[in-house]
Amino acid sequence: MESLRNNMANTSMLNFILNPDVLVLSLMRRDIRANSSAVAAILDRASKLDENMGQFGSWLLDRAADDAMDCRMGGEGIFEGLPEFLNTLQRSREYGVLLSQTRRFMEGCKRAWETNLVGTTATMSEITGIDFGKSMFRVYITHPDAEVGKYMGSNAILWGNGIACDIGISTGLWHEIMHSVVPADALNIGHAVIELVTDNELAKRMNKHQTFTYPPFRGWGRLAEIKQELLPKWEIYLRSGNKSIMRFYRESLGRGGTG
Ligand SMILES: [Zn+2]
Repeated sequence: MESLRNNMANTSMLNFILNPDVLVLSLMRRDIRANSSAVAAILDRASKLDENMGQFGSWLLDRAADDAMDCRMGGEGIFEGLPEFLNTLQRSREYGVLLSQTRRFMEGCKRAWETNLVGTTATMSEITGIDFGKSMFRVYITHPDAEVGKYMGSNAILWGNGIACDIGISTGLWHEIMHSVVPADALNIGHAVIELVTDNELAKRMNKHQTFTYPPFRGWGRLAEIKQELLPKWEIYLRSGNKSIMRFYRESLGRGGTG
């Protein structure tokens, strides 16, 4: 794996990493829809090795980044046979196929991200009032069949989502980046704010040649009601100068605040 020092030299804000253990673990879930026959084959092999293999995927998704990357070191709650389980799967024929599919997917994500980087960074700074100039994130890329996008803490993102279009990749990655800024709260207000910023407003501004309006909202259906409630204030916010997304978030929580 590349060192943090190398990451800092990356000027594209995101450092895309293909970690073989993360690739395998992220697919060890019962709810995976295998579009790739290699994914179906490795799931089949894995369930013969360990009938409870589904726990490894859940373990990964529940974990903070640094802990997850240490899975072979006997991370908390993971079974001791894990290194051998991973080695066996990583020696399999289908793993080679998964690896090349994931590499290709990673190249596509990187291209989409970098093509839109300058424009989306300017737009995101305008919408949020945040200077993203010095931010660096690690993006652990996994197979698109994993259908996962998750902020793992410590400026690390887990990403394996087969969204077809470049705009979806950019807005999706910005969504995960915003999780490092806006905290999670019990009412999901923060998550709804993140979706207004990225999946809706950023996507709308990127879709210059198409009619893209909201509502209907992009993002989780379960957050649609909150976004609808926030919409009148959100529209006023978007027209204001000197924006601060954290101020908007705190006001949305009902606490007021001026910072
Ligand atoms: Zn999210």
